[in-house]
Amino acid sequence: MLCELSHERYLFMACVRRGGILPLAIAQQNCALNRPLVSKLPNTGTTIFTVMSKLAHDEGAINLSQGFPDFEPPPALLERITHYLNAGYNQYGPMAGVFELRQVVSDKIKACYGLSADADAEITITPGATEALFVALSAVVHAGDEVIILDPAYDAYDPSVRLNGGVPVHVPLSAVDFSVDWQAVEDAITPRTRLIMTNTPHNPTSAIWDASDIASLRTLVSRYGLYVVADEVYEHIVFDGCRHESLLRYPDLFERSFVVSSFGKTLHATGWRIGVCVAPAALTSEFRKLHQYVSFATNAPLQYGIADFLRTCPEHYLGLADFYQGKRDHFARLLADSRFRLLPSRGTYFQLADYSLVSDAPDVDLATRLTREIKVASVPVSVFCEQPMDVRVIRFCFAKHEDTLKEAAARLCGV
Ligand code: PMP
Ligand code: GLN
Repeated sequence: MLCELSHERYLFMACVRRGGILPLAIAQQNCALNRPLVSKLPNTGTTIFTVMSKLAHDEGAINLSQGFPDFEPPPALLERITHYLNAGYNQYGPMAGVFELRQVVSDKIKACYGLSADADAEITITPGATEALFVALSAVVHAGDEVIILDPAYDAYDPSVRLNGGVPVHVPLSAVDFSVDWQAVEDAITPRTRLIMTNTPHNPTSAIWDASDIASLRTLVSRYGLYVVADEVYEHIVFDGCRHESLLRYPDLFERSFVVSSFGKTLHATGWRIGVCVAPAALTSEFRKLHQYVSFATNAPLQYGIADFLRTCPEHYLGLADFYQGKRDHFARLLADSRFRLLPSRGTYFQLADYSLVSDAPDVDLATRLTREIKVASVPVSVFCEQPMDVRVIRFCFAKHEDTLKEAAARLCGV
C-alpha cells in the first residue's frame, strides 16, 4: 500500500487520520519515518552470558560461563509437568499466577523464613526472575530517581534502572571479600535515592550477607525511606551451615521490599523461565499493574506441575545446599594443584578464581583465551562493575556433572 502512495500523500493521510489539522510540513517533521531510532541503552552491548556461551559453543569448549546446570530437573517434577501438559492445562493461567503454586510458595516461605505471605495478595508468579526484577523496578522508579547498585552487580540491574528513567548509582563492594561498605552506601544516598538493589547469595562473587548486613540495611531503609528490590534467586544455595538472610525474615524490611526468586535455579531448569515476586499487598498491586502488560501471565502447565512437586518433595530444595556444596568441594579439590587461587564460595553455584599467578592480562582477554586455547569457558568479573576493580578474577559455574568438572579442572591445571 505504502509503495503505491507518494511519501507526502502518505504523511498527509496519516495526518488526516489523526485529526487532520496539522500542516503537512509539521507532520513531516514529526513523522517517525524521518527519524533515526535513538537507543535507550546506547552503551549496552550483548550480555556477557550470551557472548561467552556462544564463544564456548563455537570453540567446542566446556561451558562453565553462563550459569546453568548440565543435568536434568528431578524426574518426579518432569512427570508432573508432563501430566499437566497432557491434561489440558495449556491456556492462559491467572494473571497473578496459578493459585496452587502461590499457596505452596506461601507455605514454603512460612516454613523457611517465618513470614505469613498472603498467597492472594502478596505473591506473583512471573516468567523468570528477570521479568520480576524489571517489573519491580518499574513499579517504583520514576524519571530521575536514583537507585543504589552494589558492584560487581548482576548485569540486568543497571539497564533495567535506566530503561525506567532512573539513575543507577554504583557503590563498589570491598575488593578483598566482597562485603558491603555500608558507610559508602549511606554516603551515596541523596534526596533522589529511591531504592536499593540487594542480592544475597551474590552473583557473581558467591558472597552471602549476615545479620549485620541486614541490620545496616534496616537502618538505611528506615532512615531514608528507601524501597528494596531483593534478588534472592539462589535462596536455597547457601553453604557451610550458614543461613540465608532473606528479607522475608524481617517484617519491617519486607514492608518496603519486593523479594524475587527463581524456580529456574531451585529446580535445575533455567530454560523454563519461571520466577516469583513476594511483596506486601500495596506493592504487589502496583507490581501486577505492570506485570499484566509486560507478560500478562506465566506458563500455566509448569506452574501446576511445580506446585505438586514442591508440595510433595520439599526435600529437593531443602537438600539443594548440600548438593551444590558437594560440587563446590569436588571442583575445589580438582583445582587444588592448579595456579588458580579459589576465593571463598559461600553460596550460589559459582566459584571465583584469582588468576594473578597465571597471567597479567585483563580478565576479558584471559577468559577469551582460556575458551579458545584450553576449551574451558568462564565469565570475566570486570564486566559486572561500572568502575574497574583491583582484582584479577574469573567466574566458573560448578552446576555440572562430576565428569564435566573433572575434565574442565584437568585442562585448567595444565595452565
Ligand atoms: N538474578 C541473578 C543474581 C541471577 O544469577 C539470575 C540468573 N541466573 C537472575 C537474576 C535471573 O533469573 P531467571 O533466570 O529466573 O530470570
Ligand atoms: N544468571 C546466569 C549467570 O549468572 C545467566 C542468566 C542469563 O544468561 N540471563 O550466569
